[in-house]
Amino acid sequence: MSVKKKSLKAQIRSTIRDVHDFPKKGIVFKDITPILENTALTRTITLEFVASLKQEKVDAIVGIESRGFFWGLLIAQELKVPFIPVRKKGKLPYKTISHAYELEYGTAEIEVHEDAIKEGMNVIVHDDLLATGGTACAAAELVLKRKANVIGFSFLVILTFLMGEEKLKGYSTNVKGIVRY
Ligand code: AMP
Repeated sequence: MSVKKKSLKAQIRSTIRDVHDFPKKGIVFKDITPILENTALTRTITLEFVASLKQEKVDAIVGIESRGFFWGLLIAQELKVPFIPVRKKGKLPYKTISHAYELEYGTAEIEVHEDAIKEGMNVIVHDDLLATGGTACAAAELVLKRKANVIGFSFLVILTFLMGEEKLKGYSTNVKGIVRY
């Protein structure tokens, strides 16, 4: 069935694969990789994101490793703005700035190249999925450390029951999600 015949949200929902007990027991992992095998659906999602950002003055898309790179780059290409990857500590080759944050057990640290986000830039933080919001907040902290502005967040999926959106409010109330569970 084409993307048009079934609503976009319905098609995304039916294409995402639920993987139970990954990466640990009790978690239902929303596997978005089957969407990437469908070129029409992937393209329609890109255009949906781009349409939702049309009214904003976006200077860059900051994408979170690793699934935030898929549409992060596609959106940035459509908007003709830079794509800036945020990665886990130790993966980026050049000088970085980093931010450590709390996980359920222990801490994590993410980084961005120190010269990638320019002072005063209006940035959208993008990832495939918003869960507790810890990762997206950490990415927002990196943007603020570079004296740039978080003008919004975008996600393919928002797990509303984890209340991640509440945490993001401290950075921006402009939170876009295509599918919510
Ligand atoms: P959080 O920091 O809790 O918002 O977690 C967000 C990050 O973890 C994103 O990069 C997601 O890709 C990933 N993630 C967390 N929970 C899930 C889930 N249930 N299914 C798929 N990805 C998840």
